[in-house]
Amino acid sequence: MTEKQFWQLKPLNEMSAGEWESLCDGCGKCCLIRLEDIDTGEYHTTKACCELLNAETSRCTRYLKRHDLVTDCVKISHTNINNLEWMPSTCAYRLLAEGKELYDWHPLVSGNPESVHKAGISVRSRVIPENKIDEEDLPDYIVKWFD
Ligand code: SF4
Ligand code: SF4
Repeated sequence: MTEKQFWQLKPLNEMSAGEWESLCDGCGKCCLIRLEDIDTGEYHTTKACCELLNAETSRCTRYLKRHDLVTDCVKISHTNINNLEWMPSTCAYRLLAEGKELYDWHPLVSGNPESVHKAGISVRSRVIPENKIDEEDLPDYIVKWFD
């Protein structure tokens, strides 16, 4: 029988800082610009990303300072994850908060940080920094494959 791992044994609020950080698969999907339909409240994901995201690695370039530098960069925690309805359905924090398992491509499961990219889950090399796009053109960048 396979031994259970920390994310299968502990609730999110009991994880150490290191365990919490390791849950992030590095997909970069939470760093995409989303547009909210003011009539329906529905979010639409674009392939424009925060200008601090490295589009070629899908990693934040200023991770430790991110909340000082980008006012709408949300600090994800066990207390707010259930209220962040725009978070991608594949996000490990969301999956665990919903009582679901991590996918096979998650680096903690596969043992390979590349597996999230190979599975086509990450935004690596598929996004454009928001500062290279006119804000009024953002609706033209709405995509479906990042939900
Ligand atoms: S969506 Fe979740 S797993 Fe992906 S980069 Fe953001 S926090 Fe990490
Ligand atoms: S500051 Fe970093 S973590 Fe926050 S949205 Fe931008 S790229 Fe993502």
